[in-house]
Amino acid sequence: MRVLATAVCGSDKHIYQWDASMAGMVEPPRVYGHEFCGEIVAFGPGGKRPHLEQGQYVSAEMHVTCGACRPCRTGRRHICENTKILGVHADGCFAQYVVVPAFNVVPLDRTMIPPKVGAFLDALGNAVHTTQVADLSGKSVAVLGYGPIGAMCAEIARISGAARIAITEVNGLAAAHARRWARARGLSQVSVLEIPRTKDPLGSLREATGGGADVVLELSGAEPSINLALAAARPGAVLSMLGIPRDKAVTIRDYTNDFVFKGLTIHAIIGRRVFDTWIKMIDLFRAGLDVEDLVTNEFEGLEAFHEAMELLDDRRAMKVVFYPNGKP
Ligand code: ZN
Ligand code: ZN
Repeated sequence: MRVLATAVCGSDKHIYQWDASMAGMVEPPRVYGHEFCGEIVAFGPGGKRPHLEQGQYVSAEMHVTCGACRPCRTGRRHICENTKILGVHADGCFAQYVVVPAFNVVPLDRTMIPPKVGAFLDALGNAVHTTQVADLSGKSVAVLGYGPIGAMCAEIARISGAARIAITEVNGLAAAHARRWARARGLSQVSVLEIPRTKDPLGSLREATGGGADVVLELSGAEPSINLALAAARPGAVLSMLGIPRDKAVTIRDYTNDFVFKGLTIHAIIGRRVFDTWIKMIDLFRAGLDVEDLVTNEFEGLEAFHEAMELLDDRRAMKVVFYPNGKP
């Protein structure tokens, strides 16, 4: 495929900075990048499929799964025991061309999903997966962490008819993004709590969710936020956890009262359900999902990579999109 647009994921930042979280998984030299959309240029041996043709506008699931392990054989490829990620374990899409197994290719409607947005469906799929484990309509939803995935979750909660959306965020620039989003759409059901500027985060979050959240989406992975997620959940709430903590261990402050006695349901989110999440994502676009304003910076070619990493690092950028073959 010719790469029309590609975007930077948080994990690319970890690879770039050579953090312990990713360094163990990567063997350089490698072409990184796993968020993209493009056009089919050619089929490899055995790659032809009736629903795919040359020139077609597509994206792809970049988790390549084995199809043979128990999770794969029971319809849960997102937790395949032998997952290989293109852009991590094999070459990815920070390039002019990328090769992907035909099975993983997802045809797109270019009028509904322009390349600027098609660039980051992998990340949006994470947000769709985070939200699809709970019914959001008429519910009070807490979104903890307003990075790109948190922002996408908030927009999905809006389009899904959430009654209240309470957002917590520790970074001032990111909180400002959240307030801008709510203002731009005229949303009175949204509260943005900037921590630590909000003196009593738990009290404020309970108030903003109308006495406790029915659904809590934890995107930050920070220990205080994970504890806040449990404490702010209403009894019987559904929690969806995507954020990864810096240290592997997390201390839960009140496991008894905040978790067991509340009868909570917790979902751990990894990747995208293949292909339930992709289908739901495309249907959400059809219903009016709008994430285009998440793109704060666009670059022709890939030369501005270092500049983009800096923008992401200090949270000035939300989503950075590159057009490796020029702006389509
Ligand atoms: Zn990613
Ligand atoms: Zn498998």
